[in-house]
Amino acid sequence: MSAETAPSYAKPLPVITPENKPFWDACKAGELRMQRCTACGHIRYPINLVCPQCLSAAVEWTRLSGRGTVFSYIVFHQVYHPAYKDDVPYNVAMIQLEEGPRMFSNVVGVSNDSVKVGDVVEVVFDPVTTEVSLPRFRPARVG
Ligand SMILES: [Zn+2]
Repeated sequence: MSAETAPSYAKPLPVITPENKPFWDACKAGELRMQRCTACGHIRYPINLVCPQCLSAAVEWTRLSGRGTVFSYIVFHQVYHPAYKDDVPYNVAMIQLEEGPRMFSNVVGVSNDSVKVGDVVEVVFDPVTTEVSLPRFRPARVG
């Protein structure tokens, strides 16, 4: 990504490839989409050229509910990358999605102290540049 398209976001960004572009395009559109094997139905994540369950290459991009639970999390207090120096402490959470995959993200909208394993969360999208919206999770609304 050039400096022209991301003048103010100084943190590392995903490298968009032909393989992962549908994922990032969906995030930009406010949808969480992942590869679904059309041979066996397995949701592939991380993105892969073949299904890890049945080795089929047949795939479609399917929209997920965006709901899940906090499977695990940690709070970073140390600055491991200078771009994040103003963010510490921040949480990194592994989210168990309803459809099966687990993904790393952050729980937002609550203090780090209140994040708990098992919390029910829903995806929100953080448009950090014009091209990239990062999926993060917030406590799910009740009802
Ligand atoms: Zn499969």
